[in-house]
Amino acid sequence: MVNIQDVSIKRNFTLRDALSVLNKTALGLLLLTDEYGLFERTVTDGDLRRLLLDGAQLDDKLEALPRIQSLVITEGAARRDALDLMNKHAINHLPVISITGQAIDILDRRVIDEQILLSTPHMGDAERNFVDEAFKTNWIAPLGPNVDAFEQELADLVGVKHAAAVTSGTAAIHLALRLLGVGRGDRVFCSTLTFVASASPIVYQGAEPVFIDSDAVSWNMSATALEKAFVVACQEGWLPKVVIVVNLYGQSADMDSLLAICNQYGVPMLEDAAESLGAYYKGKSSGTFGKLSVYSFNGNKIITTSGGGMLVSDDLHLIKKARFLATQARDSAPHYQHTEIGYNYRMSNILAGVGRGQLKVLKDRVEARRAVFHAYREAFSDVPEIEWMPEPEWSYSTHWLTACTVSPKVGMTSAELIKALAGELIEARPLWKPMHLQPIFSSCRYFSDGVESVSDRLFEQGLCLPSGSNMTEPQIERVVAAIRKALN
Ligand SMILES: *Cc1c(COP(=O)(O)O)cnc(C)c1O
Repeated sequence: MVNIQDVSIKRNFTLRDALSVLNKTALGLLLLTDEYGLFERTVTDGDLRRLLLDGAQLDDKLEALPRIQSLVITEGAARRDALDLMNKHAINHLPVISITGQAIDILDRRVIDEQILLSTPHMGDAERNFVDEAFKTNWIAPLGPNVDAFEQELADLVGVKHAAAVTSGTAAIHLALRLLGVGRGDRVFCSTLTFVASASPIVYQGAEPVFIDSDAVSWNMSATALEKAFVVACQEGWLPKVVIVVNLYGQSADMDSLLAICNQYGVPMLEDAAESLGAYYKGKSSGTFGKLSVYSFNGNKIITTSGGGMLVSDDLHLIKKARFLATQARDSAPHYQHTEIGYNYRMSNILAGVGRGQLKVLKDRVEARRAVFHAYREAFSDVPEIEWMPEPEWSYSTHWLTACTVSPKVGMTSAELIKALAGELIEARPLWKPMHLQPIFSSCRYFSDGVESVSDRLFEQGLCLPSGSNMTEPQIERVVAAIRKALN
């Protein structure tokens, strides 16, 4: 915030006075105010120089300054509008004028053009060393010591026996479905409230997704809806081949209830833990409950390899088969021989180096994201119309993304709030659009939690706020202020 007194001048100032005030400020900009203290125009050193060239003397008053309309912005205007104005006129400073006509601030482009993003990569200190080592030893291939070590270190960290590093979380899900025997004509149950990558691999395999609603307690797969789907399937004489349970926004689903149902029907669970690395369910790491489980290291996730994924399981046979399929299904023969179709899905040794460094800071990243969530919740403790994603007592969520819903009572939809925040250069996003509402899946079956669909309501009212582990306190305060401004 600029001290307006320090840059204000009046028409009864001499040219010399004006130059001396200008000298004391780093802005290169003065504000001319009238006798009532109202803003009249901006004055630059160029304006003063022109007066001198026109023959004015240093001791002359500023009466000769032309009366012009300067570029200003009104108090309360959106950052986006201020920035657009600056861009359009190629200026770096813009006075803010109150509704009563006083100058109250001067916006500085370098300060206001800072964008706050939803979730950005956050490197630690060790990543470069692992990558440098890969270069030094020329291990640039999709195999090598970093890949082996990354698999082992991640497996040890979450407490699972085996892991296979692959090119993406999506690739890991695809491999998992293939390993669990999903093929043409099969059906797979899948959480509806998720990113599309949970479901696309079902279609890659020629199978048909059947979507399952969330519960209101965890926003993850509803045991009630899952049970309903199994009962209907049995009545119709079929069973799904796999149940894909997604752990949303850093929080585990209620694994005991869901596993009990899966076990009762003898159907394996594939755990999509792409968003929940570092979280716990009843003290056990998220991503260790499925027959196979999947993590993602995409650029927006809690830790990243810029792109990558991991398939984990206690079953060595499955993980060995995953590595085989991920490297083009090469038979062990002296020549190139194949008896199955495989994929090119193995993670590069360079990216695995990034992953090893990131694993070292995972705990810090989880704590930072949780702190962001708690800062928001604290800041809006007086606003019951904002409801935060609940965290049941059995859950330790990473709060990968801070998610909330806004009640219709605030007189503004979540979409309108997202738009208002975009005007302040703050990136907020809607919750995932449920899969059963996606055009591509419009013909798929869906089982809701109750008469009402929980995921439909969450999608309608929900949003995710900027949640990066590298967010600063002033950035969080900016988001909070922008939300308050929008709600008022
Ligand atoms: C990110 C994500 C994936 C896909 O991971 P990629 O590494 O981007 O392929 C799958 N499922 C969920 C729930 C995700 O959030």
